[in-house]
Amino acid sequence: MAHPPSPTASSTDGLPGVQRLDVVRSPGDEQAIVDELHSVVTGLRARLTWLKQGGIDAAPAPSPRPARPRPSAPSPPVGVGKLDPAAVPVRAAASGDPRASQNAPPREPEYDAGPRDTDDAAAIARAAVESASRMATRTPSAAPKPPVRKATGDAPAGSSRPSSEVVYPELQAVPSGTEGLRIIREFIGDCRRCNLCHGRNQIVFGDGNPTPWLAFVGEGPGADEDRTGLPFVGAAGELLSKMIKAMGEHALKLGFPELAAQLSREQVYIANVVKCRPPGNRVPEADEIAACGGFIRAQLTALSPRVIVALGRTPTQFLLANSAPLGRLRGQFGDWQGVPVMPTYHPAYLLRTPSAKAQVWDDLKLVILRLVEQLSASPPGFVPPSHERNP
Ligand code: SF4
Repeated sequence: MAHPPSPTASSTDGLPGVQRLDVVRSPGDEQAIVDELHSVVTGLRARLTWLKQGGIDAAPAPSPRPARPRPSAPSPPVGVGKLDPAAVPVRAAASGDPRASQNAPPREPEYDAGPRDTDDAAAIARAAVESASRMATRTPSAAPKPPVRKATGDAPAGSSRPSSEVVYPELQAVPSGTEGLRIIREFIGDCRRCNLCHGRNQIVFGDGNPTPWLAFVGEGPGADEDRTGLPFVGAAGELLSKMIKAMGEHALKLGFPELAAQLSREQVYIANVVKCRPPGNRVPEADEIAACGGFIRAQLTALSPRVIVALGRTPTQFLLANSAPLGRLRGQFGDWQGVPVMPTYHPAYLLRTPSAKAQVWDDLKLVILRLVEQLSASPPGFVPPSHERNP
């Protein structure tokens, strides 16, 4: 009886842990398998390194893939270089204006793009990380919990690195108002948690009403703020003060004196994403925002404003966890933990580009209307003025 031919000799015969495969038919096939295994291992290593650099201790479970509808009739084969019809709607939506395609799947941020390994390699990486995590949890420790680095799913502006925000357990349940702000400031102390501490003169914590209706969040202190310890002073700060004053006047004009009284520099709260001045007023790096971001989150929690205005790209992308350009995000409300967030341009940008003032004023008028809505909904017995009173 004739036997099938034996597999040919393999270059892997002498390698420890490498078994011959029955499917090998030729040295070429075997080399292809070796190459593929090498590719998988390389991808796995890159994935683990990437996760480790991002401070992620456990890999997330894969998102379920949406099932593609099966065609009722067999489709002709799609040749190389031809467009897959199933991908057309997604690509078309992703390339358009997000405001016109809000149901389209969000594009994956470029900063978040790790090594493109295979699903198998990702599964192996997850198993390895989970196994290491289980091993680590077996070791009892009485030491206090260190700050946790949390994958935020988004990158701060100006950086292609994945973000991994530090979560400070001590700031997760601060009380509201003055006491909460006091606790946060005390926790920050003479902070040395990121490199921005080296060039600062002083920490710029924030300023304003501890129970504001409206909070403004900027990027970081500049030279004047670093010198005075107060946010938004200098030319940009003066312009912001004028903007807030104009909002109050507009609210009064609309017939909402109670709201107008809340729209002054003293009655709003102003703070930045990072508390120390970046050298040369550069955009804060991802790790700097990751280290400092927990403070502004805790501040906003303590402040509990009715609306937040994000001034510029960095606070917008940080609060909304969205890496889309500011030009696309501004002018429409986002959400931060249930609080409406209006992204708009930074006053420093307006000083350089006065033509953008009209857009910012449009954004701020939407903020006033949102506050009016909340005002109308909140106080019992309050009768909102009719639209006829609005010019
Ligand atoms: S920027 Fe924030 S985290 Fe960095 S040193 Fe200053 S206060 Fe600390």
